[in-house]
Amino acid sequence: MSTLYDVAVIGAGPGGYVAAIRAAQHGLKVACIDDYASPQGEPSPGGTCLNVGCIPSKALLQSSELYHALQHEGAAHGISVSGAKLDVPAMLARKNAIVTRLTQGIRLLFERNRIAFFHGRATPQRSQDGVWQLSLSQPAAPQTLQARHVILAMGSRPRALPGVAVDNVSILDNAGALALKSCPARLGVIGAGVIGLELGSVWQRLGAQVTLLEMADAFLPALEKRLSGEVRKALTAGGMAMEFGVALQRVEKRGKALVLHWQQGGEDHQTTVDKLIVAVGREPNSGELDTEALGLTKDARGGIAVDELCRTGQPGLWAIGDLVRGPMLAHKAMHEGIQVADAIAGQPVVPIDLSAIPAVIYTDPEVAWVGITQPADGIKKGSAPFGANGRALALGRDSGRCTLYVREDTDRLVGAAIIGPQASELINEITMAMAFQASAEDLSLTMHAHPTLSEVLHEAALAADKRAIHG
Ligand SMILES: Cc1cc2nc3c(=O)[nH]c(=O)nc-3n(C[C@H](O)[C@H](O)[C@H](O)COP(=O)(O)OP(=O)(O)OC[C@H]3O[C@@H](n4cnc5c(N)ncnc54)[C@H](O)[C@@H]3O)c2cc1C
Repeated sequence: MSTLYDVAVIGAGPGGYVAAIRAAQHGLKVACIDDYASPQGEPSPGGTCLNVGCIPSKALLQSSELYHALQHEGAAHGISVSGAKLDVPAMLARKNAIVTRLTQGIRLLFERNRIAFFHGRATPQRSQDGVWQLSLSQPAAPQTLQARHVILAMGSRPRALPGVAVDNVSILDNAGALALKSCPARLGVIGAGVIGLELGSVWQRLGAQVTLLEMADAFLPALEKRLSGEVRKALTAGGMAMEFGVALQRVEKRGKALVLHWQQGGEDHQTTVDKLIVAVGREPNSGELDTEALGLTKDARGGIAVDELCRTGQPGLWAIGDLVRGPMLAHKAMHEGIQVADAIAGQPVVPIDLSAIPAVIYTDPEVAWVGITQPADGIKKGSAPFGANGRALALGRDSGRCTLYVREDTDRLVGAAIIGPQASELINEITMAMAFQASAEDLSLTMHAHPTLSEVLHEAALAADKRAIHG
């Protein structure tokens, strides 16, 4: 007879591991099954985010930023640095140590919360008398589990580009791009989304000549054209070549190099690179689920259809994170993990507001936004530049701006776009203000410590009422 759990979570990415811990905090008997293995073959919970996503990319972005700053930013401070040398294996070792610390930390958290962790693949089968059966294929021994509730948190995988086979030697997905052992002289990136921009930035700052090819005509469509134009200009000035409206025809291997054949506006082009990153989006890991047998419906993206509380329509079967609608972001997955665990425990739950999820791109400048970010009837704007902010000037990071979007009738904050230093941190103040239904006046009446970057938000709130002090 297999063990009966209150909750079985399939996938230990940010959605799954957080759901498991929260459910255990409610006193429920929890199992979590994840199949991810480290390059050494060790169980490595944490999913895409910790293993080959958010965390390793930020570790390498930080290292590459430091290398770039040592070479280019010292002089303005009266500091000359010579002989800065790149040791990519050491950089990767630092990144790997951070990943290991966090992924093994999750195993400790599981132990502390008495969560049974299984390394292997789980397949939910059917429910009988309110109990779901799961089969587990593990390296050690296959077995079955039973659970009253199953949370599907299986995440997503890189979308393939037809005719361009990823080998993670010369044609790379995110995992390969985060493990390059040396900096390529010429790097191609297909896709100017968040992942393409961040991975391209890492290697560009380390010395690669980066060419980014994007199929769409528009760059960062979430932002107003004027603002996305500012980002594009800054990235291009930093040395990243970008082409839009590109139709990739084929990738030809020529010796160790790759020749990209592409068209733009009917004209043929060729670009020769040493490595190519394919970053054309991600798709939900729903392929192995027998949706028909489980009574699940797929959504337009190929994920599992759920309502605003992550219910699949089948009693006791829930789905969260990249597997379901909404932006594929780790904090959204974690939020849903907590929401579902609370719902299972019978706690009151507030439905997720998909229109108020912050998003960040960790390029230089950083870009962050939340809520409404386009002009619309009944919406006024308040904008303030980092160029008039003392802290930004002291940091030597004084380009970019914060734009707030505010309802004309109620003065309520409904969105923000921030381009500039620490935009990733600053956006959280606006997200919180929106969660508390704050007005622009609330923000402008709140004292902000001086000198701080967040004074730009304060100034933008004043600007929304045409009362900017420094504008
Ligand atoms: C390069 C890159 C950078 C990113 N940067 C950011 C960022 O800065 N901020 C941000 O918010 N998001 C970022 N993301 C996105 C983020 O990683 C995902 O949104 C997040 O990991 C989704 O969490 P999840 O729990 O839904 O799924 P995942 O993290 O994908 O985890 C799912 C887990 O389930 C396992 N699994 C799948 N099927 C089974 C099965 N049948 N049995 C057992 N286990 C299974 C998978 O192997 C995986 O370990 C980035 C992604 C990439 C690729």
